[in-house]
Amino acid sequence: MSTQQQKVALVTGASRGIGAAIAQRLARDGFRVVVNYAGDAAAAEALVRGIEQAGGQAVAAQADVGDAAAVRRLFDAAEAAFGGVDVLVNNAGIMNLAPIAETDDASFDRHIAVNLRGTFNTLREAARRMQEGGRIINLSSSTVGLLMPSYGVYAATKAAVEAMTGVLAKELRGRGITVNAVAPGPTATRLFLQGKSPERVDQLAKLAPLERLGQPEDIAAVVAFLAGPDGGWINGQTLRANGGIV
Ligand code: NDP
Repeated sequence: MSTQQQKVALVTGASRGIGAAIAQRLARDGFRVVVNYAGDAAAAEALVRGIEQAGGQAVAAQADVGDAAAVRRLFDAAEAAFGGVDVLVNNAGIMNLAPIAETDDASFDRHIAVNLRGTFNTLREAARRMQEGGRIINLSSSTVGLLMPSYGVYAATKAAVEAMTGVLAKELRGRGITVNAVAPGPTATRLFLQGKSPERVDQLAKLAPLERLGQPEDIAAVVAFLAGPDGGWINGQTLRANGGIV
């Protein structure tokens, strides 16, 4: 195990996809990991068992990130299990695509609740509780740069996440805590693949000069860099990890 052994990483939305890959990678790097999920307890528990079988330490913790009281309890649970949070990864997110003209109020509100308020809730809690040396990494999206039709509400929430990233980095002046965002391009997870034909998936995969979809592990590697010793001088930035798509 590495020198990160005693540090604790809280990863939101870690029951599958990019969040699960981040949890596994940070555990491999020696972090004790809090695996947050909203609904899929079985998947979160299976991930925890996998991490433990590989020699790491992890706990699963249910919380809808859109619920401020639940997020407070999530940080309490991290403190009870492992003594606090050194790395926060705001990964939980949803995406339902529709042109703005066809977006209903419920879809708009849900995007705001999970992607924007959810990130705000955990950022506020981390800003209040995190100790010197902490790292905060928010998941944005390259759709903020691509601005493709039907991504309006989703991209708007991620643009807001990028704005909060830069602001919080400055607000934490003097505390030795970095705040950055990672903005993936198309990545092979349920969020991306759901509702798309194989032809559409192939088309989007070919948009990047590297001509493939990102894998969750590609994104986890960037998060691990920002969470680890080599990423310490990066602060207030959004790193696009997308094979060169934008
Ligand atoms: P998935 O849909 O595969 O996974 C989403 C995860 O978030 C699940 O573990 C889900 O858990 C959890 N989740 C959803 N809502 C909540 C909530 N309210 N509170 C807590 N957890 C919640 O998505 P990805 O892995 O693809 O996405 C991860 C992040 O990466 C998101 O922020 C997304 O916007 C971003 N991203 C993804 C891209 C892609 O192409 N895949 C591209 C750019 C950015 P459960 O099922 O247990 O509720």
